[in-house]
Amino acid sequence: MAADMQTSIATGLEQVRREMEQAGKLSPYGNKPQLVAVTKTVDVSRIEEAIACGVQAVGENRVQELLEKYAVIGNKVDWHLIGSLQTNKVKYIVDKVAMVHSLDREELAQELQKRCAAIGRTLPVLVQVNLTREESKSGFYEEDVIPFLQKAIAYPNLAIMGLMTIGLPSIDPEETRPVFRRLRELKEEISQLALPGVEMKYLSMGMSHDYPVAITEGANFVRVGSAIFGKRFYP
Ligand SMILES: *Cc1c(COP(=O)(O)O)cnc(C)c1O
Repeated sequence: MAADMQTSIATGLEQVRREMEQAGKLSPYGNKPQLVAVTKTVDVSRIEEAIACGVQAVGENRVQELLEKYAVIGNKVDWHLIGSLQTNKVKYIVDKVAMVHSLDREELAQELQKRCAAIGRTLPVLVQVNLTREESKSGFYEEDVIPFLQKAIAYPNLAIMGLMTIGLPSIDPEETRPVFRRLRELKEEISQLALPGVEMKYLSMGMSHDYPVAITEGANFVRVGSAIFGKRFYP
């Protein structure tokens, strides 16, 4: 069983890496896509297998799950928080995560600032943008992003390094292309403003069903789970 799992993770990773490379070549934006292997619902032994296959960054969307896995795996891998973060949980993760992709509201920025200042670290964060305006999704509406970033100096312990979005669940990833394109344009608009405390370096976009399209639109972080680990089974 374990051997089969390892083979399938290795195979999944190989295919994802190959597609990332191909899409990177097709992209006119010179982006070098990095993989965040999304390990939600994936158990520790399978995460260890992925690490053995060269995975350097994993993404979790729930604090409790991240903490349980972190307690076993530790800093062998970079932990990226990619899901919505309650302010009362911030204190548990600020000393553990390499990056938060889901800065989705001002109140969260304030809490992250407070907790990072308390431990004397600067935390890389990405601003999540709800471009598709679905109520079920978190993130700033696009018109609220720049007003928020104009206040970035209020958060000296946050390194605001880019934008994140979630595309559409549609089968045809081409339908999401305009969403990814819009995030790239927004990043460029923000870069031009040269806002103090804001560096627009990263675009985190693309999941298992649409990461090649996201890369051709400039993604440099893709968050890929099921294409590596197989379909998720929720208990
Ligand atoms: C689960 C998740 C992913 C990965 O989804 P897959 O379809 O399994 O690749 C990416 N981003 C976020 C925010 C997620 O919650």
